Order: sequence, then C-alpha cells, then structure tokens
Amino acid sequence: MTLTNNVGNVGFKCIGCGACKGVCPKNCIDIVEIGRMGLKPIIDMSGCINCNLCLDVCPVNDINKRENISKSMKIYNGISKNHEIYYNGASGGIVSSILIDMFEKNKIDAAIVAFYNENFDFYGDIITRKEDVLKHSGSFYLPVQQLANIKKIKNYKSVAFVGLPCHILAMNRVIKAMDLKNIYIKIALFCCGCGRMKRGTLDLIKFKYGHSLRENEKILEYHSRRGEKRLFSQTSKIEILTNFEKYEFLYPEFLDFVDYYYYSEGCYNCKRIYGIDADVSVGDDWGKDTDTKLAIISCNSELGIDVIKDNPLLQISDNPSSLIKSQLGGHFRKHKLKNHIIMDFILISFYRVMKLLGYLPFRFISNRFRNISLYILRVLSTKIR
Ligand SMILES: Cc1cc2nc3c(=O)[nH]c(=O)nc-3n(C[C@H](O)[C@H](O)[C@H](O)COP(=O)(O)OP(=O)(O)OC[C@H]3O[C@@H](n4cnc5c(N)ncnc54)[C@H](O)[C@@H]3O)c2cc1C
Repeated sequence: MTLTNNVGNVGFKCIGCGACKGVCPKNCIDIVEIGRMGLKPIIDMSGCINCNLCLDVCPVNDINKRENISKSMKIYNGISKNHEIYYNGASGGIVSSILIDMFEKNKIDAAIVAFYNENFDFYGDIITRKEDVLKHSGSFYLPVQQLANIKKIKNYKSVAFVGLPCHILAMNRVIKAMDLKNIYIKIALFCCGCGRMKRGTLDLIKFKYGHSLRENEKILEYHSRRGEKRLFSQTSKIEILTNFEKYEFLYPEFLDFVDYYYYSEGCYNCKRIYGIDADVSVGDDWGKDTDTKLAIISCNSELGIDVIKDNPLLQISDNPSSLIKSQLGGHFRKHKLKNHIIMDFILISFYRVMKLLGYLPFRFISNRFRNISLYILRVLSTKIR
C-alpha cells in the first residue's frame, strides 16, 4: 500500500469536510488529524485511479472568498415553540424544527445531519425519520466529515442537507460533480471558527478529570449546548457519556480551556461565516443582552423564506438588525485581521482573565465585558471599513 498525504496541494488547508472521501469511487481516501496542526487527506495510492473527483469537490479554494451577504432576503429572530426541541437545540432549535416540519409534511425523505461514533469521530449521518432529529441536534464544535457518506444519498428522493458554510460549498461542488437532483434544501450554520479538534476535546477531559479516555472506553452520547440557557449559565453544558463515566463541561469551562483556539489550519483560510449559498442560514444572536437562547435566521431563497414562515413549530419575529452586527467579533476576526494570532491572543487573554476572576462572577462580568468589547470592536471595524 502506498500512502500519500497530498490531494493536489490541499495539505494542511484541509477543513475535514469529507467530500473527497465521500465521492472517491475506490474508497481510498481517509482524513486524519495530525496533532494540533490540522487535518490531512491521506490517499492509498495503490487504489487511486486518478479520476480527480476528489479535487473537483474540494472546497478549500472557495472558502477563502468573501460572501455576498446581499443574497440574504429576509432576517428573523426565532426559537422553537416546542420545549423539547428548544431544550436540545443549540440556539433554540430552528434547524431541528425545520427538519421535523419537513419530514411531517413529506417534503423530504432523508436529511444529512452531524453525528459521532464510539471512537469520537464526527461525520454526516443520514436520518430518515423525524424521531431521529433530536438525537442529532446541538452544535458539535469540531470538524465534522459531513460529506463522508454522500454517495448513499442517491437512495433517497428528496434530501435536506445541514452543514457549516464550508460544507455547503463542498455540497455545491458535489451536486455538480455527481449530477445530483435530489437535494431539496440546504441549511447552513453560521461559523466564525470550528473550535477545538478531537485531540483538543480529549485533552480537555484529561485536564478536568485527570485522565485520558481508557483503552476500552467508548463514546455513547455527546450533547452540546443542551439546556434552557445559551452560553454562560450553569445549565448550558457539553456532556460526554461513555461506557465508564459521564464527563460534563459548563460552556465557560469549555471556552476557557486554551486549546479551544487551536483549530484546524484549514479554518484560518476561511472567510465564510454565514453560509449564504444555502437556502437558510442559522446562527446565534450574539447581539442580545440576555442569556436565553435565540437564533438569528437568514433566508437566502424563496424556499428558505417558505420553510421558516410556514413552520408551525417556530416562533419568529422580524429582525431589522444586520447579519454583521450579530457576528461582529467573528466578522472582524475573519475579514479584518490578516494575522489571526493577534485576535486569538486577545480572546485567550479575555478567557484567562475570566478564569482568574473565578466562575461565580463570570456571568455578571462577562455580559458587561462582552458588551464593552463588542462596542470597541464595532467602532474599530467601522473605522477600518
Ligand atoms: C462548529 C460550529 C461553529 C459555529 N460558530 C458559530 C458562530 O461563530 N456564530 C454563530 O452565531 N453560530 C455559530 N454556530 C451555529 C450555532 O451554534 C447553532 O448551530 C445554530 O445557531 C443553529 O442552532 P439551532 O438551535 O437552530 O440548531 P439545532 O436545532 O441544534 O440543530 C443543529 C444541527 O446542526 C448539525 N450540526 C451540529 N454540529 C455540526 C457540525 N460541526 N457540522 C455540521 N453540522 C452540524 C446537527 O446535527 C443539527 O442537525 C456554530 C456551529 C458549529 C457547529
């Protein structure tokens, strides 16, 4: 077996979307995490037939281009009216509500959402029943090989695809390369940076619990952002259940761990935040002052407007504020600062100070600190723009 780590010149720019692996007709590509540096596609050259399909679907040269946010046709705020969906959802369960409603109305017979296996690898899972939507809800802050199972969607008539902005771009390329006609809707999650990788998350377990996962320890359940509140409360948690133990991290703890900012090199090459090429893009409304969950929803096509407006599970209101305002920190980070290290330094220092001050005043201080930081960023970014 001959292995190479070069898919064209992708190298460490890989964002681990899994599109190359998913389309490879010989199944000879794998994506591996190399320490904290990032992800790399590895090809078994003895199986490769040089069809170039992997290069055709790779989005690394697309993610570096800015989005045309004038494509956003309508912006709403919203949450799910259904308490179980709200509780399990990252920002109030908008994405899950759209999927459940579309299954109920028979608009789709399958959806690609994110999931994990017992080895803590994350990939795009195909679900075919509304009952499975909530098992897959929440935000997994790791690179997810969302298109790794893409060949299987040929078996379905009408499919909803959920993914980060990079996944949406990869999906657009796959649709072209595989001549797919059955993608009914694309739903994007805003993303200002993917978050720590698998290695970083396992390091966090070691940091808090004093030991790594044991030899036969298997991941049974992973939940993130489950709870009544959004980020800084005692109820918003990342929970990892294994056959040995339950690991729990409050959201501030998860953010505070310095490794959070060592994300895949490929993400540093990305200027996409909103996934504006999807029919609907959903993010968290960071512009608000309370800690209750609330999503900001950008409808980018007529279909996108319909699935939001005609959805009985949603409680929505018009949002006159701009998309950029809701993601100002991330926008600044991705568009204005060429050298991300400065921004990372500021953010790491911020969370370090929060830690020094202790978790009790965290919430009180962080809300005010966040508002002041946002104000400064707003002023700065207006000046730079
Ligand atoms: C890595 C990452 C970074 C993000 N960064 C930001 C940000 O900077 N600003 C912001 O406003 N919002 C960000 N979000 C989006 C936010 O966390 C919520 O996912 C979004 O607001 C939708 O919330 P919801 O309650 O409607 O989704 P839910 O109803 O909880 O549904 C979420 C859906 O997304 C799928 N999913 C979860 N994780 C991933 C993943 N890694 N890749 C692909 N699909 C996934 C789930 O399977 C589920 O179907 C990010 C999300 C992720 C996963």
